[in-house]
Amino acid sequence: MRSITGFILLGLIVAQPTYSGEFEVLYQSDTAKVVRDKSYGTNIGIFATNRGVVIIDPTAEDADLPKLNDLIKNSFQTEKKYLLNTHSHSDHTGGNAFFQQQGFTLVESPQGLKEFGVIKHTQAVSHTANDNILYHPTSNILFTGDIYTTNWHPTFYAGGLMGFNKAVDLLLSIGDQNTLIVPGHGKPTSKRELEEHRIQTFALVERVKILNQAGKSVEQIKNDEEIKRLLSQFNLEGRQPFLPERALTRFIERTITVLEQANKA
Ligand SMILES: [Zn+2]
Repeated sequence: MRSITGFILLGLIVAQPTYSGEFEVLYQSDTAKVVRDKSYGTNIGIFATNRGVVIIDPTAEDADLPKLNDLIKNSFQTEKKYLLNTHSHSDHTGGNAFFQQQGFTLVESPQGLKEFGVIKHTQAVSHTANDNILYHPTSNILFTGDIYTTNWHPTFYAGGLMGFNKAVDLLLSIGDQNTLIVPGHGKPTSKRELEEHRIQTFALVERVKILNQAGKSVEQIKNDEEIKRLLSQFNLEGRQPFLPERALTRFIERTITVLEQANKA
C-alpha cells in the first residue's frame, strides 16, 4: 500500500488519508468525507445533511462499488440517501445505477438541485455544457467537477477560455477563504491554488497560441521547453510521467481547436 503524505491546508494539518478497499479517504470531518476511487481517480463526496446522506459523483461503473457503499454506510447512518453529479461523464456518473439499486434517489440537475436545498448548486459551461458546481455550506466544501483538476491538464473544451474564466470566477465567489476546493480529480486544494491554476492555464494556452501562429506542428508544440515547464505546474501530485503521450497530443489539438473557435466568435 503506497503511503500518501497528508496535505496542508491553510496552516491546518489534515489527517493522513486512510483506505477502505479501493477507496482512499482524502479528507474527513463530522459532516463530510472526500474519497478517491483509486481505479479512476475520481473524487467522491459523502455528506451528512439534515435531508439524509448525499453522495456527489459515485465514480464509474466498477466492481468495487459495494466497498464504496460499505464505506458510506459506516460513515453516516441514514435511511434517506441521495445522489448528485457534477457532470454527465461516465467516470462521475457510472456508479449511479448501482446506488439507485441500493435505495439512493438521483437528484437530476439543474431544477432538482435547486429544490434539494442543502447542497447549493451553480451552473457553469467549461468542461461540459452542463457543469454543476456543488457546495455544502455546513462542511464548507466545494465540488468543482472537472472544471478544475490537480493531476491532469486543463479541460475547458465546452466553454473555451471564456467559459473556464467565468466558471473559476463562480467557484471563487462561493464560500470563503477556508473553503476546501475539491477538484474532479487530484488532491483537494484551496482558493489560492485555484487562482494559480487559472493564471497557469492562461499562460499555457497563450504559449500554444504563439507556437501555433508561428506555424509549429502539434509535435513541435509538445516538445517545446516552455510548454513542458508550463504543463508541469499542473502536476500537483508529482506523477511521473505526468501525462501519457496520447493525452498530451489530444490536449494540444483540442486547445488549438478551442483557440480557432474563439477567433471565429
Ligand atoms: Zn472526470
